[in-house]
Amino acid sequence: MVKALEQVMEKAEKLFAENKKEVAIAAGATTVALAWAYAYRRAQNAVPKSGPYPAGSLPAGAYDAVIVGGGPSGSVCAYYMSRGGAKVAVLEKETFPRDKYCGDAVCTPAINILKDMGVLEQLIANNEAHFADAGGFVSPNGTSYIGVSKQKLGQAACCAVKRINLDMRIAKQAQKAGADLKEKFEVTGATFDKATGLWTVTSASGAQVKGRVLVCADGATSRLATKLGYCTAPPQGVCSRAFIEGGTHNTDFDGVCFYPKWSLPGYAAIFRHPNDELNYCYYLIPCGKQGYCGDVKDSDLARLHNDAIKYDPFISKAIGPNAKIERMRAASLRLGGQGLKTTYDDHLIIVGDAAGHIDPYTGEGIHTAMMGGKAAAETILSMRATGDFSSKSTKQYEARWKELYGHDFWMSKAFAEVVYRCPLLLDAVASEMQRKGDSMMAKWAEIMTNMQPKTYFLRPHVAIPLGIAVIREFIDQKILGTKKDKYQMLPMPAAK
Ligand SMILES: Cc1cc2nc3c(=O)[nH]c(=O)nc-3n(C[C@H](O)[C@H](O)[C@H](O)COP(=O)(O)OP(=O)(O)OC[C@H]3O[C@@H](n4cnc5c(N)ncnc54)[C@H](O)[C@@H]3O)c2cc1C
Repeated sequence: MVKALEQVMEKAEKLFAENKKEVAIAAGATTVALAWAYAYRRAQNAVPKSGPYPAGSLPAGAYDAVIVGGGPSGSVCAYYMSRGGAKVAVLEKETFPRDKYCGDAVCTPAINILKDMGVLEQLIANNEAHFADAGGFVSPNGTSYIGVSKQKLGQAACCAVKRINLDMRIAKQAQKAGADLKEKFEVTGATFDKATGLWTVTSASGAQVKGRVLVCADGATSRLATKLGYCTAPPQGVCSRAFIEGGTHNTDFDGVCFYPKWSLPGYAAIFRHPNDELNYCYYLIPCGKQGYCGDVKDSDLARLHNDAIKYDPFISKAIGPNAKIERMRAASLRLGGQGLKTTYDDHLIIVGDAAGHIDPYTGEGIHTAMMGGKAAAETILSMRATGDFSSKSTKQYEARWKELYGHDFWMSKAFAEVVYRCPLLLDAVASEMQRKGDSMMAKWAEIMTNMQPKTYFLRPHVAIPLGIAVIREFIDQKILGTKKDKYQMLPMPAAK
């Protein structure tokens, strides 16, 4: 064997010596080709230093940007653009304060933006934010852990804020910064005029607003992005919500996620508001077969939501028999960029739910809406300085959101698939929490609330103990049979 190898090496050296000149030419040519390809790519990606619409070219009455939708993505974008000196209009079909169906869990990256905007202090001053400390989860086989995380993390991983308060405060802060907030302005269409480089955005009543850049921030169903052809499929995820009156329930924690095995990778969650009111939600996350959320469909949501209140052993216990619960409401989730090929074009940017910027595992999208809104504002402000609003420039927005959070979507999607096909993984995490206590819980909370990306799971100090926990759980459940499944629906009352 060694001899054979030596012979091959000898032959290779001989060939090299014989063809020295040819090899040198080939190497040189390859280097030049690679250098040219690199320079070409850089030139393709470079943002033009100047463009056809320099500062001062904006006609009177027109805006640097017209933002359609005054939710977190649109209003955060408007705030940062106004703070940067741009002229912005926010067109919102409702009048603030308006409700938005949501789980109300505001994760760390969103908290940081709210702080920077001066909104967090308003929420705290008005007792509208409840910072979570006691929390945890119940795994598919009923292994549960509820602990405290604030001390271990040095801050609350998330806080609960009712959207009626949150969205109103963000929109009003954008207005205070200089944005022109036009409420009761339902956008029905938008057309771009190449000659002037302006969009004309039209309302149901016929009113018109003109702007250099159109920002679609109109939520998950994204009528405008659909009408313009950028969004080609309806959202595939869905989530319910019901508020539960304070003082009528049995809950003494701040936030818990429940993973009944029949709706994985979806889950139910309960979050507590400052006035002891609860937000109860049931998320169905697209996974597995096309059109399915694991083994269920969006048409199963009402049954799952309502049955859990009465018959789920953990959820029914937390809610209690005397709880005053409002009727279920529901709205769609567009996760992980689903239904869109791009989020930018000439003079156009798509942000938040309209762009599908919801975490494909957790269903959370307030923080990504805000981070994306801010990234869009920064991109538009730099375009405003150069005068180029072509897709070469708007492309920078997509690069920004991918760097901030989009890079993590594939891992979240993969995690949802793994949890659906192998619920034991979540059982192992819960068991590991029971063994290691709050330090493990805090690590989980960090990832689930986006203080850390999902790829954090791959780091050795997380992956190795988790791997060992999975093996241990497998042995306990499948080989020794020492772990019994506690997640069985409570019996329904016998028919009279
Ligand atoms: C039930 C449920 C629970 C959820 N729970 C959580 C959670 O706990 N934590 C979390 O982080 N995320 C959660 N999400 C996701 C979160 O709600 C969204 O990601 C977030 O609201 C996205 O913000 P946005 O500004 O992009 O869109 P939206 O908040 O939907 O705002 C869009 C705005 O556009 C306006 N609009 C729409 N059409 C027009 C039009 N034609 N003209 C003018 N205005 C228009 C709407 O009125 C609205 O104000 C949940 C979602 C659902 C459905």
